[in-house]
Amino acid sequence: MATKNLALSELRGKTYTEIVFDQVWGQVESYQATHPEQEIFMMALGDTTKPLPSTVVKAIVEAANRLGNSQTYTGYEDITGNPALRSAICTDYYQKKIGIEIDSSEVFISDGAQSVSVNIQELFAPDNIVAVQNPTYPSFVEGALLASRSLVNLPCLEENNFVPRPPDKKVDLIYLCFPNNPTGAVATREQLKSFINYAKSNQAIIIFDAVYSPFVTTPNIPKSIYEIEGAQECAIEIGSFSKWANFTGLRVGWCVIPQALKIKNTVPGELNNLWQTRHAVKFWGTANVAQHGAIAALSPAGQKECQEVVNYYLQNARLLRDGLATMGLECFGGIDSPFVWVKAPQYLSSWQFFEKMLEAKGIVGVPGCVFGDNGEGYLRLAALGQRENIEATVKNL
Ligand code: PLP
Repeated sequence: MATKNLALSELRGKTYTEIVFDQVWGQVESYQATHPEQEIFMMALGDTTKPLPSTVVKAIVEAANRLGNSQTYTGYEDITGNPALRSAICTDYYQKKIGIEIDSSEVFISDGAQSVSVNIQELFAPDNIVAVQNPTYPSFVEGALLASRSLVNLPCLEENNFVPRPPDKKVDLIYLCFPNNPTGAVATREQLKSFINYAKSNQAIIIFDAVYSPFVTTPNIPKSIYEIEGAQECAIEIGSFSKWANFTGLRVGWCVIPQALKIKNTVPGELNNLWQTRHAVKFWGTANVAQHGAIAALSPAGQKECQEVVNYYLQNARLLRDGLATMGLECFGGIDSPFVWVKAPQYLSSWQFFEKMLEAKGIVGVPGCVFGDNGEGYLRLAALGQRENIEATVKNL
């Protein structure tokens, strides 16, 4: 007799995606039905809106044409990713942009960061305890709940600039995301070092989500956890082409599992090998055409175009922050990140502030409490929209 997965059915209706689609959209739709004259400024989704860089488009078209020709057709590829892409991530991303050495055997290509950020938990025993920032990117929590793991919260508050301290109890896995979604906060070298010290003393692993690191503009803010000494022994890093190269639909990301990574019952290289085994069982690679697009994004011409994309979104965030500040609203983030974390005035709750912004200004964000209870009293606005939309929003403020 087949029975349902209880962990999955318990999550039903409570995931971030479902809350945004049912409750946020639901409220917007019902408000619009009674107020058709109100212009709506959509800033809820962290989805990109600019087109793919032309260098990427050209590479994709060429790759598709090669697939359409019997002389140049290729089928299955290396399941851990196109070797040229893995090597470009090492040299053109980590070495040239950040100044750190990663071996291509440590890089695994995925269909974006989302799947790997949850699936990576499969490397570890079911009883491992997971620490998450609160508020946090919800998938880390949802993945842990799906695997029936215990969770420990690391509070991210205004008092600590939304950067938590290492856990004060023993945990096994620690998710960190910087620049952070939803708060837009970044962590200093010293703050990251304290997590590495914790991980090394407790044989814990840090899962570092660096999806927004190309948005870092503040000097001396690390773009990769591997900029901190000792991280190769205790941290996995996740990256993505989604936000800085507009790949949200194309789907290419990666994770780095260093050969030096080591926990209690493993030798160096073993976790990397285990992830290869997991690929052999569950994941046979990312679309080859998309991977050619990613290689092009890392070429000199591609990087130049991608930098323009990042500058564009950051300028959006700046305009939004400045506009909100003129209204007297207190804002965080939006400097090294495309997210602006807006504090609700007059002790409004997240949902009350959401409603007020919708009804008074037509602005749609995501109530901060959806990202964890420490997000109560905030609203997250995403600045990944078109400039005209941002300018119209600001004008309306
Ligand atoms: N990690 C964070 C922190 C994100 O904000 C997102 C997307 O919004 C993802 C991962 C997923 O990105 P991808 O499109 O690469 O799957």
